[in-house]
Amino acid sequence: MKKDDVIAIDGPSASGKSTVARKVAAALGWLYVDSGAVYRAVAWRVLQAGVDPSDQDAVAAHTRSIEANFFVELGAVLFEMGGERPGEALRREAVNLAVSPVAANPVVRDIVTAWLRGMRDLGHLVMEGRDIGSVVFPEAAHKFYLDASPEERARRRHAESQENLTVDAVGASLQRRDQVDSRRMTAPLTVAKDAAIVDSTGMRIDDVVAAILERVAFSQKA
Ligand code: C5P
Repeated sequence: MKKDDVIAIDGPSASGKSTVARKVAAALGWLYVDSGAVYRAVAWRVLQAGVDPSDQDAVAAHTRSIEANFFVELGAVLFEMGGERPGEALRREAVNLAVSPVAANPVVRDIVTAWLRGMRDLGHLVMEGRDIGSVVFPEAAHKFYLDASPEERARRRHAESQENLTVDAVGASLQRRDQVDSRRMTAPLTVAKDAAIVDSTGMRIDDVVAAILERVAFSQKA
C-alpha cells in the first residue's frame, strides 16, 4: 500500500535538498524533516561523550542510551537529544567529520530509522536524506533524488558555511562524506528505483520546487 502522506527527497550533500524540501513542505502545509540533522545530533552526542566515532561498539552503546524527543515547531519536526537542543553545533566541522562514520553504524541506522518512521504520527511529512525513499519509507508515493554537479554543490555549501574554509576545502570535505555515504554497507546513498531524478545544476531553486509540486499534484490526481 503506497503512503500518500510522505514525500521523500534524497541526494548527496549540498544538492539543494534542504531548501527545496523546506519550500515544498511550506507550499503544501506539511512538516519538514531534516533526517541528516538527526544523524548529526547523534554524532554531536557521541563527540560530547568523548566516544571515538569510529569505535562501532562504543558508538552503538552510546546511541542506545540517547533519549530523543521529537516535536513540531514552525512547520518542522525538531528534537531534543539528552534533554538538549543542539542548534548551530550540528554544522561544525567536527560534526561534519564524525557524522559519516557514525551514520554508517548499523545500530545507529536502526535507531534513527525507527525515530524517523515514528514521525508519521506527527503529520504529513516532507523528509530529506540519503535513504528515505529506499529504506525509511520505501512505500512512499512521492520520491525524488536531487543532484547537482560537485562544483556547484561545493559553491553552495561554501556560501552558507560559517567556517573559514576555501571552496576547494569545502568541496573536498563534501566529497569525503559522499564517498563514505555511498560505499557503506547499510543503506548507502542510492537512487530508489521509483524515484524521479532532478539535476538542479544551473536551475533556480523555485523552479525545482515547482517541478516537484507539479509531479506530486499530478500523481495525486492519477
Ligand atoms: O544532510 P546532511 O549533509 O546534513 O547529512 C549529514 C550526514 O548524515 C550525511 O553525510 C550522512 O552520513 C548522514 N545521513 C544518512 N542518512 C540520511 C541522512 C543523513 O546517512 N537519511
